[in-house]
Amino acid sequence: MPVPSRVRSQQAFARACQVIPGGVNSPARAFGGVGGNPLFIDKGEGAYLHDLDGHRYLDFVGSWGPLILGHAHPRVVAAIEQALRRGTTYGAPTESETELAELIIQAVPSIEMVRLVSSGTEAAMSAIRLARGSTGREVIIKFAGCYHGHVDSLLVAAGSSATTLGVPNSPGVPRGAVADTLVLRYNDTQALEDAFRTQGARIAGVILEPVVGNMGLVIPTTEFRSALRRLTHQHGALLIYDEVMTGFRLAYGGAQELFQEMPDVTVLGKIVGGGLPLAAYGGRAEVMKQVMPAGPVFQAGTLSGNPLAVAAGIATLRELREQAPYPYLEQLGQRLATGLIQAAKASGLPHQLARVGSMWTLFFNPDPVTDYEVAKRSDTARFGRFFWAMMNRGCYLPCSQFEAAFLMTVHTEAQIDQTLAAAREALAEIG
Ligand SMILES: *Cc1c(COP(=O)(O)O)cnc(C)c1O
Repeated sequence: MPVPSRVRSQQAFARACQVIPGGVNSPARAFGGVGGNPLFIDKGEGAYLHDLDGHRYLDFVGSWGPLILGHAHPRVVAAIEQALRRGTTYGAPTESETELAELIIQAVPSIEMVRLVSSGTEAAMSAIRLARGSTGREVIIKFAGCYHGHVDSLLVAAGSSATTLGVPNSPGVPRGAVADTLVLRYNDTQALEDAFRTQGARIAGVILEPVVGNMGLVIPTTEFRSALRRLTHQHGALLIYDEVMTGFRLAYGGAQELFQEMPDVTVLGKIVGGGLPLAAYGGRAEVMKQVMPAGPVFQAGTLSGNPLAVAAGIATLRELREQAPYPYLEQLGQRLATGLIQAAKASGLPHQLARVGSMWTLFFNPDPVTDYEVAKRSDTARFGRFFWAMMNRGCYLPCSQFEAAFLMTVHTEAQIDQTLAAAREALAEIG
């Protein structure tokens, strides 16, 4: 298999490394988990990414989740263009913000009131502050391998690039900032019960990814989910679903619609901004009314509810509501999973295919991945070889064993079949 020339990407990366730490503006982009240099992108078009060297790749990253409708979706582009001509920011309220809030509330079952912010990190940070502010308690429970952005108090045993790059606890996070963060094992119902039994009166909230994407894809057990709801309720703590990745992805109403399980607070990002920087947190009205200026819990943002991002979000949500693509995404996901399992079996390599709807991970791991400890035992060197073998065949996967891959509504069955053909060759090649 001849390796395509990536000389222009290499030059661009060398130049970037002179002026940007590690050459990238977010560590997940740096290919640290697979070796080699990142591709530099020229443009995105539907299901494809085009790099600087003129190669085209079928994209299974979708900008790490936001692009469920594909690159440069005509309706989203038109909405941004229209908004752009009216000015890029006012620092004053617009009716469009209310419209997006209404769309979110109609979509996500547990949200009655919502605040718009600019990134998933900011939304998670604000949700934690709200949990602490509204309960008057300080302890937050998080789960190892879940990633909630780079919030100080949540940057312990964090997934995503923190795992890929082996820095689950970053220098610069003061001990004090994580002193009230209790890290438990995902899917460990007993540990959760013990924590609430011993310090229930101190626990402000529990935050989790209701389906984890940031240690690769990990699914919660029914028992774990119902214990979360029962224990937080009993002890007066808030249950926070971080649906930055799963919101509008696993169902229009996110994981909570899929599971029919209602959190108190929901964190949204990625898809809700339609590919522009927008995120949100919301919940029951009585909780959200604690946020300033309705209530005392401070949170603010110069570019919050930015008109361009709001326009992109509205266009994306309307398109998803009208298109109702979730059965189609499930069908594509099944086709991909069935084919990948067959190909992996034929290769004889130990593997686990984890998938919910359009989110999936092929783990090079002999055991079902139920938590961070098991995920970390995956063969990351083999994953790196698989990643490059797929890249050489025109398939752009997340550059880490610990990141979920995504399907988009613009993917076709024919493209899935091409990808499976590439995967059969890649798996046979990597050994
Ligand atoms: C991406 C992600 C975040 C962080 O969002 P940013 O916009 O990158 O700050 C938080 N939580 C989850 C579950 C995510 O996947």
